[in-house]
Amino acid sequence: MNHIPICVRCHIECRVKKNGVFAIEMASFGPAAIWMSDLWHCPECGIEFLAGFGQRPACEHYQADFQSLLDSLDKDASLMGVRFWGSRTEQQAPIRQAVAKVQETFTKSLKSARQRALGRDWED
Ligand SMILES: [Zn+2]
Repeated sequence: MNHIPICVRCHIECRVKKNGVFAIEMASFGPAAIWMSDLWHCPECGIEFLAGFGQRPACEHYQADFQSLLDSLDKDASLMGVRFWGSRTEQQAPIRQAVAKVQETFTKSLKSARQRALGRDWED
């Protein structure tokens, strides 16, 4: 980082609140990589953000100790394992998939209930 981050709302230099925060990079299949970062905040408005990542992840999903590190971060809130996605669309993809699955199951059971009620094959 070339300069201290500035809060656009407050026009004030931000401050590091905690060094050595774990940033968990999420992918479509789940947690993909764990990065070391710093938690920053604006001393005026309190907005918090992660900045100052290492060149490479501390650990990636295919490495042997990835799952145990992830478990430790989930168990101990003081380690601040912060999950992040590339966009809100990526973040909500599993929710949309789950909703689609529920809708599909509901539609199927509704169809078969109609078929039973009509006592014949029902076509839509
Ligand atoms: Zn601010």
